Amino acid sequence: MPLKSLTINGFKSFADKTKIDFTSGITGIVGPNGSGKSNITEAIRWVMGEQSAKSLRGDKMVDVIFAGSATRAQMNHAEVTLEFDNSNGELKSDQTNITIQRKLFRNGDTEFSINNKACRLRDITEMFMDSGMGKQSFSTISQGRVEEIFNSKPVERRSIIEESAGIALFKQKKTQAENR
Ligand code: ATP
Ligand code: MG
Repeated sequence: MPLKSLTINGFKSFADKTKIDFTSGITGIVGPNGSGKSNITEAIRWVMGEQSAKSLRGDKMVDVIFAGSATRAQMNHAEVTLEFDNSNGELKSDQTNITIQRKLFRNGDTEFSINNKACRLRDITEMFMDSGMGKQSFSTISQGRVEEIFNSKPVERRSIIEESAGIALFKQKKTQAENR
């Protein structure tokens, strides 16, 4: 399922609204240390629903909002938009073009949307679950994660295999049904 574009505004070091268009083939992002390459992959995980501030290298979630620099004031909110081409129907949606967006304000208010329609975090998580994408899938492997997978406990490794085998969604639905 090809990514079409990523738009980052106020997330981490991206004080200026920045749009990255992904054309077909492989996109490489290069730049000096500290220029924001990892922040780009974190923006992708964040918009897909990442809820762990630690895994985004922060203490609290509001740490992802641009914190200001010597020349610029801090920003009041972070906003990330990710656009997919779903013409092969890999995502659970009948739309061929899917845009997801997440916003976070300094007071903690959060907004999620799919194709400009407000939704719950759960709607986004479920849409990606078992698609091979999603916040914890192998579509993003951050620095150190390979060692982490090798060193993980069997139970943790099992959940990784379940996600990639496509049964994680059914397990979650079963748990939800049992808890009703
Ligand atoms: P490396 O090549 O070392 O892996 P990188 O290109 O991956 O570097 P990042 O880790 O993405 O760089 O970017 C780090 C920069 O982002 C740091 O300069 C840090 O100060 C900045 N940064 C992170 N969070 C914020 C924030 N909330 N507000 C402003 N700047 C931030
Ligand atoms: Mg990096």
